[in-house]
Amino acid sequence: MKHLLILGGTGEAMLLAERLAHRTELKVTTSMAGRTSNPRLPPGDIRIGGFGGVDGLIEYLRAENVWRIVNATHPFAANISRNAIEAAQATGIPLLRLLRPAWTEKLGDQWIHVPDAKAAAELCRHHKKRIFLTLGAKELGLFAKSDAAFFARIVDLPQSSALPGCHFISDRGPFSLQGERTLLRKHGIDLIVAKNSGGDATYAKLQAARELKIPVIMIDRPPGNADRETVTDVESALEWIDTSLNRD
Ligand code: NAP
Repeated sequence: MKHLLILGGTGEAMLLAERLAHRTELKVTTSMAGRTSNPRLPPGDIRIGGFGGVDGLIEYLRAENVWRIVNATHPFAANISRNAIEAAQATGIPLLRLLRPAWTEKLGDQWIHVPDAKAAAELCRHHKKRIFLTLGAKELGLFAKSDAAFFARIVDLPQSSALPGCHFISDRGPFSLQGERTLLRKHGIDLIVAKNSGGDATYAKLQAARELKIPVIMIDRPPGNADRETVTDVESALEWIDTSLNRD
């Protein structure tokens, strides 16, 4: 059996593992960072937690005799993506990036583009607004020095708040347009901060923002690395795997 490693933590990684579950010629391991307390688990083998940097990943790839790697992590997971490229280069194991397309602005959208969460926090600093943050827990602390009222949606409620006074909404996508409209109205939101994650699961907030004429501070994606093979959907990743199986 060929050992395929999926770097996961996304809907695409889940779907890819599901689509490969019946394949007897493959052993599929999905790796997850272990950020959420109760993650949805894909079929196949699972390993949870960091590898210990590039060296740890290289060691894992060699010890587990990994045949191919699909990096299906989130578009903002820049560190593991960089590590995957370096480890693939060091071991000679082919690597595919499965990266969903970024969202693009449509008529009626009011997006303010910023390069990172720090710049988004800077813009929010002097707004006495009711701001909806759709970011990870690790970014919330950046917004602490602000006069705004914050509402943050995250999967797991934080133990001690990095953002005092923030109203937390614990929820996991996918989110519906109706649900997003209701949420934005209920909390009187007049500014949204979002990452350009792409995909359908979390897009409804942007549709609702367009309808309700709410501006969005859009954190653009971190710069990617050009030296890698990239596909944008699970079907294409399956084709890459099949082509590789036929070739080897
Ligand atoms: P990151 O900054 O790129 O990664 C930080 C460290 O976490 C990595 O160096 C690695 O530790 C470990 N890690 C990350 N993904 C891993 C994986 N799939 N398997 C094993 N270790 C992993 O990533 P992040 O932004 O913190 O995201 C962490 C995970 O959450 C990713 O799997 C990503 O797909 C998922 N996620 C992220 C976002 C987001 O907005 N960033 C949103 C939804 C889901 P070592 O160096 O020790 O190997």
